[in-house]
Amino acid sequence: MISSSPTRRRCDEIRDKVESGRRLSADDGLLLYSPEVHLNDLGALANLVRERKHGNLAFYNINTHLNPTNVCVYRCIFCAFRSDLRDEKGYRMSDEQILARGQEAVDAGCTEMHIVGGLHHKMEYDWYLGLIRLLHHAFPSLHLKAWTGVEINWFEHITGKSVRTILEEMIEAGLGSLPGGGAEIFHPEVRNKICEHKADAESWLEIHRTAHQLGLKTNCTMLYGHVENAWHRIDHLLRLRSLQDETGGFQTFIPLAFHPANTKLAHIKKASSLMDLRTMAVSRLMLDNVPHVKAYWIMLGVGTAQVALSYGADDIDGTVRHELIYHDAGAQTPEILSVEQIRRLIVEAGREPVERDTLYRRVVREGGRWSVGEKVGAGVQVS
Ligand code: SF4
Repeated sequence: MISSSPTRRRCDEIRDKVESGRRLSADDGLLLYSPEVHLNDLGALANLVRERKHGNLAFYNINTHLNPTNVCVYRCIFCAFRSDLRDEKGYRMSDEQILARGQEAVDAGCTEMHIVGGLHHKMEYDWYLGLIRLLHHAFPSLHLKAWTGVEINWFEHITGKSVRTILEEMIEAGLGSLPGGGAEIFHPEVRNKICEHKADAESWLEIHRTAHQLGLKTNCTMLYGHVENAWHRIDHLLRLRSLQDETGGFQTFIPLAFHPANTKLAHIKKASSLMDLRTMAVSRLMLDNVPHVKAYWIMLGVGTAQVALSYGADDIDGTVRHELIYHDAGAQTPEILSVEQIRRLIVEAGREPVERDTLYRRVVREGGRWSVGEKVGAGVQVS
């Protein structure tokens, strides 16, 4: 696994742990980030875990994004999407525009709408809640995966309501699950530099804990490749693993590669594909209790996402339409892939494509209609 002898024994120990299904420690994770550990060897170990959980399957869905506003009270220095209230690029969608997006999604066969956006200075909680109600009422078959922990935290702030009450109201309106955004890097040494005012780690984790207690599935993320170091990444993964031990409510972990263009961190060089693959593999190995690890092709690029399917990832996200957040930050990927394209890139990577819904049930399509079948992919077995 390594070229130099001083750490060879430690690497052998790690391999033994993974092969026998034992949990890796923080020190193990740090070592795996060391360049002394060959990337291909690391990838093979992560692939072992992926294969144990999911065999040869790789998942995708047919989805769309909705960013109802880009106006945001916060100024996270990694964000190229936000706008000030009076900026020319600032927008807020009307109900008609939102409904038109819902119709477009349903007509395109989407099973999921991913909804996140800015924290608008002037829009009240009822606008955000009403948006969920509006979409769910008009398009009940569309799963609404909406509002990051940061947005839920903002709703707490502007209403004085508890997280539990907010989530209960959102569920009653039609919320289906929470996306994993807003986690960035939990450690305060980093968080205070890149997004000091928004929800801290404890708040983000508490929101997801409450969501899990209410029966919602959620995702989790980590934004890497900016001012953090390996220790901050491992600390982040361990905090997620710890909550997952408690609740089992995370479905998918998505490592998000930072795109520096058009941000206040534009001087930083984007993480290399090698770093992307290393982070994918380390994440798969450390998060032994999270069922899925996603290679988000929008951020990684299609080629790296394909390779990532052999470095621990079992999911490649969806066809995606109307993605703004990472394209505003310079992502060069297409704005949409067709179903044929996404299936082909999975097959080219040597995997068997499976269309899933948001809750990882197999989607069956017949004659222009779709329904969901059995749950696919492994559960939460520790490996
Ligand atoms: S990352 Fe989210 S919270 Fe931060 S500035 Fe951008 S839109 Fe606002």
